[in-house]
Amino acid sequence: MRAQKGVTVWFTGLSGAGKTTVAKEVERILKERNLYVQRLDGDIVRKSLTKDLGFSKEDRDKNIERNAFVAKLLTKNDIITLCSFISPYQEARDKARKEIEEVGGFIEVFVNAPLKVCEERDVKGLYKKAREGKIENFTGISAPYEEPVNCDLELRTDQETVAESAAKVITYLEEHGYIPETKDYTTEEEELITERLNGLGYL
Ligand code: ADP
Repeated sequence: MRAQKGVTVWFTGLSGAGKTTVAKEVERILKERNLYVQRLDGDIVRKSLTKDLGFSKEDRDKNIERNAFVAKLLTKNDIITLCSFISPYQEARDKARKEIEEVGGFIEVFVNAPLKVCEERDVKGLYKKAREGKIENFTGISAPYEEPVNCDLELRTDQETVAESAAKVITYLEEHGYIPETKDYTTEEEELITERLNGLGYL
């Protein structure tokens, strides 16, 4: 039996909310556990797979549709797929869910930090440009963000650390049987196991 079951973890939220940061930390933990994981990130795919697309509603929908297609293929092959896209429209997220649930799991994660906090972080300097009118259709400023109505998990990244947010995702994956649960052994238990394995000649 495989150690992992196919699932897409879909991080949605405003620019600067922490989607990429949390997804990277989740990826690190999963890789450390020798699990197969693939990240799909809006900033990266928009330079390759969807570089022909802009930020109109129509183009945003196409962006999500294409990425959901890729995520579906990965999920079908039991890869833990971590998608970080602003994906501001509920309908587009629901469509992605419907597609991907045909072959595996889909977890909608609302990466939630208030607009004010995201704007203060202004990781990429984009809010400043959007306020100055130098960028059109900027989510939260001049384009809508529809908050999830049926998310599976919410991460308040303005109130919790990256480690806490990532741990919530890992726990969710464990509790829903997508990845094996790791057990933290006590020192006594570890000693007993070592002793037994020694006795059996394995060590
Ligand atoms: P997004 O991918 O949603 O656009 P990023 O991950 O690129 O957002 O940026 C989020 C920023 O917020 C990073 O600079 C990160 O260090 C910071 N940050 C602070 N606290 C958190 C947290 N708890 N979770 C995620 N990011 C956080």
